[in-house]
Amino acid sequence: MRSIEGVMYQGNAPKGVDPDSIFFVQVDTDKCEACGTCEEVCGTGAIKVINDDEIRQVVDPAACMNCGQCLVNCPYGAIYEGVSYVDELFEKLKDPDTVVVSMPAPAVRYGLGECFGAPTGTYVGGKMHAALRKLGFDYIWDNEFTADVTIMEEGTELIGRVKNAGKEGTLPLPQFTSCCPGWVKFVESFHPELLPHVSTCKSPIGMLGPLAKTYGAQETGTKPKKMYTVSIMPCVAKKYEGMRPEMDDSGQRDIDATINTRELAYMIKKAGINFNSLPDEDPDPVLGESTGAATIFGTSGGVMEAALRLAYEVLSGQKLNDPDIKVVRTHEGIRAADVKVPNFGTVKVAVCSGLSNAQKLCEEVKAGKSPYHFIEIMACPGGCVNGGGQPIDPDVRASLFRSMIAKVNRRYNARKPEA
Ligand code: SF4
Ligand code: SF4
Repeated sequence: MRSIEGVMYQGNAPKGVDPDSIFFVQVDTDKCEACGTCEEVCGTGAIKVINDDEIRQVVDPAACMNCGQCLVNCPYGAIYEGVSYVDELFEKLKDPDTVVVSMPAPAVRYGLGECFGAPTGTYVGGKMHAALRKLGFDYIWDNEFTADVTIMEEGTELIGRVKNAGKEGTLPLPQFTSCCPGWVKFVESFHPELLPHVSTCKSPIGMLGPLAKTYGAQETGTKPKKMYTVSIMPCVAKKYEGMRPEMDDSGQRDIDATINTRELAYMIKKAGINFNSLPDEDPDPVLGESTGAATIFGTSGGVMEAALRLAYEVLSGQKLNDPDIKVVRTHEGIRAADVKVPNFGTVKVAVCSGLSNAQKLCEEVKAGKSPYHFIEIMACPGGCVNGGGQPIDPDVRASLFRSMIAKVNRRYNARKPEA
């Protein structure tokens, strides 16, 4: 793995700035070797040749979905992040008057261990919770809690759209997922007419920020104004999401800071914590609990599978004996599947990752040719485990994905109801 510091911005995130005007990734043109890899992986054409030497640069923040795929794929380490909350977070962790809350996403715990020499994809959730406590976080809450909430909300929305399809006032099919901020910016920017198709649910972190500052604050007797919520993501685009002006339903900023897996590893190393010797610890109660369905949010097909489990049981009125709907787990760009639901019929779904693939599905929906009820879209190939904020070595990403799936399968098999 290349050094974490090499791609990390060394300054604080701007406050009160329109996130649409920020360059979340930038090219160090002195390091650029003009190989063109970034342009090949970019799904929107945001990164372009800027001179006769074929040096690349992100020329327009509006065209950039902040996915970070150019950054993790640049073979010369020439692309770095334009926004970092690390310095500010270190200050907040030292401040006795600030209650600092952690909110790590499912995929972070499958990427973090690699930064400390563990084989790619090793599950280090317990050590991650322990490290967050050692860093000085006051509450170790977990984004898996609201991944579960998202499943209930998004699954219920899908059931409503399917049952009432064609009736006046019903939102249209297919329903798109809404948890990936790169995809959401993409559809807002390039296909705004498709917004009624996008789930009305916030992303898991979009739900956890306000829940932390309302329910969580109430349960722990904390003044919301003193609370500093930290979204910890495998992603660069989540920094953009956390800064969106509308993310203030709690009456405060819902998300005060966003860091990614690389930056968390950097902080643990900088604080002198021996990560590998840490014991496994649990998150804190109230907003730290979750089910196995939340974990699979980190892989392509995971949101779809979790929501389908709910939809299956509600639409069929039958218990789903085997919770694995493996047909939607995929590392392919687009996979379509038919899920047979007793007493209902067939639910047609598609799972898509990568923005170029998303473009194809959007065109299909706009042409009225989409056969699907539900489409999951993730901007990064393979989903969040391959996000732009994860450890970088491209040779190991496929194995990260396989390892996560294997772990998820083991968890489900252990919980399978008896026949
Ligand atoms: S991938 Fe990196 S080195 Fe290659 S053109 Fe893009 S910025 Fe330059
Ligand atoms: S962050 Fe994503 S959208 Fe932006 S330039 Fe890089 S690859 Fe393109």
